[in-house]
Amino acid sequence: MSMLPQNNEFRITVLPLFASGHIIPIIDIARLFARHGATVTIIATESNASIFQNNIDHDFAAGFKIQTHIVSFPGAEVGLAPGIENYSDVSSRHLQAKIYQAFLILDKLIDQVIIPATRPDCILSDLSHPWTTDTAERLGVPRLVFSVSNFMAYSAEHSVMQHSPHQKVASDTEEFEIPGLPHHIQMTKCQQPEFLLRRDRFTAMMESNKQAERRSYGTVMNTFYELDGVYLEHYKKITGIKAWGLGPVSLAVNKNLREKIERGNKSGMESEELVEWLNSKEPNSVLFVSFGSMTRFPPPQMAEIAHGLEDSGINFIWVIRNKDKNDSGEAAEGLPEGFQQMIKNKNRGFIVRIWAPQLLILEHPSTGGFLTHCGWNSSIEGISAGQPMVTWPVSSEQFYNEKLLTEVLQVGVPVGARRWWNMSDEMKEIVSRENVEKGVGFLMGATEEAAAIRERAKQLGAAANRAVQSGGSSENNLISLMKELRSIKVNDKD
Ligand code: UDP
Repeated sequence: MSMLPQNNEFRITVLPLFASGHIIPIIDIARLFARHGATVTIIATESNASIFQNNIDHDFAAGFKIQTHIVSFPGAEVGLAPGIENYSDVSSRHLQAKIYQAFLILDKLIDQVIIPATRPDCILSDLSHPWTTDTAERLGVPRLVFSVSNFMAYSAEHSVMQHSPHQKVASDTEEFEIPGLPHHIQMTKCQQPEFLLRRDRFTAMMESNKQAERRSYGTVMNTFYELDGVYLEHYKKITGIKAWGLGPVSLAVNKNLREKIERGNKSGMESEELVEWLNSKEPNSVLFVSFGSMTRFPPPQMAEIAHGLEDSGINFIWVIRNKDKNDSGEAAEGLPEGFQQMIKNKNRGFIVRIWAPQLLILEHPSTGGFLTHCGWNSSIEGISAGQPMVTWPVSSEQFYNEKLLTEVLQVGVPVGARRWWNMSDEMKEIVSRENVEKGVGFLMGATEEAAAIRERAKQLGAAANRAVQSGGSSENNLISLMKELRSIKVNDKD
């Protein structure tokens, strides 16, 4: 048996992908590792660091060995305005490509200079940084991949990539089974990510990400064994690498009010008024409506959501990220004229501009349901809070997540979104106000079926909370992973 070295320090260098939906959970994981004794260095650009630095500063002050290494962003070199460093801050393909270009420049520096300077014993990096497998190999340390998904969605996407079942159907809307999964999952061609249907630049990127993943030490995801353990085992079989569910990571580290408000947030605005409004409402009477950090719907879709919510008669909080200013140009963004005044007068709803304290809202006793775009972070945050969901997938792997939520876990009901949509293209099919009203009315209603969904959501929420407590599956995973990583370091030194 190896002896631990006198210096018991174990250094983990963390490299996020700079989109809010990727940054938020990997930072939670970084904070978790620090709580388990690791010395953690997060690499980030200044504007990206600003959305999590407060929590890191508090952790550091509390005695955890965690800090951020700021690298300057070469935005000017590719013609980007100052402060635009995060994929979630832009919606056009053109600007996203520029951010990508700037990171290509930066990646070289991070690979050659910054990561080596942090003297890592382990690199934890987003799936989208395939080159970090080589960095880790060069430095003789393990690379852990962070995949911003769950094992079920990963397995479904992998199966479609491998077997192309969509090529055997006659139309976009004919159902086919996703082969080889532990459950019978039926889907259609128009629910599949664009890059799986026809080869493009993104297809090649995904392939290279996955090849590098296979050569890495293992993968961690923000999920837990009781949720998709059967798919975790499946994942290990299809990839041949190790894997751990460490989640729900938001539950494991964001314990106090300040942390919940400041998670992923630059300003912490509007929270007080919002909480006051929620406090004034009956238990389980408010629906939370959010489409994550990226999605911006065109005006006709916004109008249908507004009418559907209005017609449902249900209280709601709706996060609108379409523009930066309050109370102007309702018509331009598709809201019916006078909509905001109406909900104010009737005290029916609350519109949050730009960024909502999502954890706080989901955990509030007045919140009784979540209309979500099925981004995985939002999904698992909804699960953690025991919320039943109306599922409205838009892009990425969200249609697979919908299947997980509505059919495997049965904690949600579909709104009826049928077509995967790349935000920079025209939206070919919108969800009608009738569907919105029906989905929301059903979820928040009094039928036995809705009550069963709510009960299952509550049970799953309890399981999520147990997973991150002492003795829980995710907590145990983290302890054994840390032990394993430390023993690799010791053995390498022998
Ligand atoms: N989020 C938030 N407030 C908002 C919008 C998003 O706190 O107003 C957080 C949300 O809690 C989640 C993340 O941003 O942690 C969004 O990630 P998700 O995977 O749900 O969707 P994406 O933004 O990647 O589409």
